Amino acid sequence: MNKHAIQQAQTPQILGATMIYQHHDWQGQTIPLPVGKVVCIGQNYQDHIQEMNSKTAPQALFFIKPATALRPLAPVVAIPMQHGAVHNETEIAVLIQQPLSKASLEEVHAAIWGYSLALDLTLRDVQAELKKLGRPWEIAKGFDGACPVAGFIPADLIQDPQRLLFSLEVNQQSRQQGDARLMIRSITQMLVEMSQWFTLLPGDIVLTGTPAGVGPLQPQDQLQLTLSPWLDVKTTVCDEQQILTQLASQAIDRN
Ligand code: ZN
Repeated sequence: MNKHAIQQAQTPQILGATMIYQHHDWQGQTIPLPVGKVVCIGQNYQDHIQEMNSKTAPQALFFIKPATALRPLAPVVAIPMQHGAVHNETEIAVLIQQPLSKASLEEVHAAIWGYSLALDLTLRDVQAELKKLGRPWEIAKGFDGACPVAGFIPADLIQDPQRLLFSLEVNQQSRQQGDARLMIRSITQMLVEMSQWFTLLPGDIVLTGTPAGVGPLQPQDQLQLTLSPWLDVKTTVCDEQQILTQLASQAIDRN
C-alpha cells in the first residue's frame, strides 16, 4: 500500500481515537453519563432573529445534532473548509441527567446536571442553499464536529441560570455578548416543550440559542469564550483536513 492509501485507510480510526468526546465538569473530571444527542432551539434571542431577517412563528424551532457532532471545545476547534462559511453561534449548554418525557416544570429542575458553553457551528452557505430549496438543513448543523462543548458546572453551584452572562471574542475582538435574561423561552420552558416531542435522556445536551454576532470562522482564529464567573476557555480554530493529514502522518511515522 502506498502512503496515500494508508492515510485513507487509517484516517477514520485516528479521528475516532483522538477526537472522542466525553462529558467533563469545569474542573476536568469526567462526568459518568453517556454521550447522547444534542437538542437545540433556534430563534431564541430577538437580536439574532433581526440579524438573520428570520421569519418567526409562535411555535418553537427545535432541531437535533447527533452525538457524533460533539467535540471538546479546547484546545482546538476543527472546522471543514470545503463547504463555504462556518459560523460561530455561542450558546449556553445544559447537560441532562434524568429522562424527561412530556415533562412538567417541576420535573425539569431535577433533570439538569449542569451548565456550560457550546458552539452551534453552522455551515451558513449550505444552510441558506437548503432553505432556498425548501429542504431540511440537517447537514448544515449536524455534521461531525458541529458541536464543540466546554466542561459543565454543576447546577447546584449556579443560583439562577437565567441570569448567566457569556461572551465570545475572536482574535481579541468582541463578537458575541449573551445574557440569559434575554432568552425568548427560558431554559426550563424550552426543556418542557422539547420533551413533548423528543424524550431527553441522561447524557443528552440542550443548546439554548445564540444571541447576535454570528459570523465566519477562519483557521488560526483565536477564540475566547467566557461564562462568567465560571468558564474562561481559549481555543484555536483549525482546518479539519490539516489535522487529519497531520494525524495520519504521525501514525505512519509510528509504524
Ligand atoms: Zn444555534
